[in-house]
Amino acid sequence: MQTTLFSAKDTDQLAAAGALLRAGGLVAIPTETVYGLACSAFRPEAVARVFAAKGRPSDNPLIVHISDLSELSLLWQEIPPEALRLAEAFWPGPLTMIARKRPEVPGEVTGGLDTVAVRFPAHPAAQAVIRAAGVPLAAPSANLSGSPSPTCAEHVRSDLDGRIEMILDGGACDFGVESTVLDLTRRPFAVLRPGSVTPEMLRGVLSEVITDPAVLRPLDRGETARSPGMKYRHYAPQSPVTAVSGPGCGSAAYIRAHLLEGGAVLCFDEFLRDFARIPSVAYGSETDAASLARGLYASLRLLDREPHAHIFAQCPPLSEEYLAVTNRLCRSAGFRVIHVDEKGAEI
Ligand code: AMP
Ligand code: MG
Repeated sequence: MQTTLFSAKDTDQLAAAGALLRAGGLVAIPTETVYGLACSAFRPEAVARVFAAKGRPSDNPLIVHISDLSELSLLWQEIPPEALRLAEAFWPGPLTMIARKRPEVPGEVTGGLDTVAVRFPAHPAAQAVIRAAGVPLAAPSANLSGSPSPTCAEHVRSDLDGRIEMILDGGACDFGVESTVLDLTRRPFAVLRPGSVTPEMLRGVLSEVITDPAVLRPLDRGETARSPGMKYRHYAPQSPVTAVSGPGCGSAAYIRAHLLEGGAVLCFDEFLRDFARIPSVAYGSETDAASLARGLYASLRLLDREPHAHIFAQCPPLSEEYLAVTNRLCRSAGFRVIHVDEKGAEI
């Protein structure tokens, strides 16, 4: 299959993408979080092709993207009142909400669950494509399953060229990590995947929100994942990663002391000079969570261009503001995480 690269700024090409999606095609689209691999949410055969193109386990459900609140009634059995208040505060934007699905929503989309995750993206091209398709779009991240998510069209091309019909190039993504996923089906409401909308921001609208404990640790044996995505390896480059979590000066000291021949480093901007003679990539500023989120996946992909014996990653200390980045790094490290103090001693 030939994969065509179109511009997300060209209205004719956006219209062509909409027509292709209506006909059951697969189109990678820019969003403000990461690139999504979109298909019509009401065409089970197109949904099956999305799973096949990504190599995604079929029980890992997709998020459905809408361009107008009126589309919620096509997807959800009932609209929880809290969802409307959250939509008012955070939509369009990087928040995904889960509620009971209508029977018409294909089980292929939801991995057989009776709930469906929905998001109203803020990216103008994403909204334009959904409108042009005239139907809600199911769209996981547009990467091969397991690898770092794509934050520009080139990342999508390198993973999915020849497997999908079209890529709409809308430049680099603003946020760089996937949406916050919030489950509204059980009390207390729980964040199943942290994103740019933090639990603290959600608490401005809801009285109680917890972060699911499996966000920062592997599932226990026999434990059922509240979100199927928690079961799988994610966001990982080919070389093994170890996350070193703590103040930057501490993680830098730890890495200097423990890096072996053939190792590489993912570091904060402030420490790039410390690793001048080692293969190293800086992903953002230690003091700016948004910059770390924006740079993370592209930096992991850059490090992945050559094989390394191992990669040490400077990881922010635990806090709600940095939770999205910490969660992605812990997962890309397969939860090999070392906690250090400001002197670099393990704690
Ligand atoms: P991705 O499509 O790569 O952004 O991943 C979507 C994430 O949302 C995965 O971790 C899924 O497991 C999670 N998800 C989607 N739908 C549901 C649902 N109905 N219930 C629980 N988790 C969901
Ligand atoms: Mg993904």
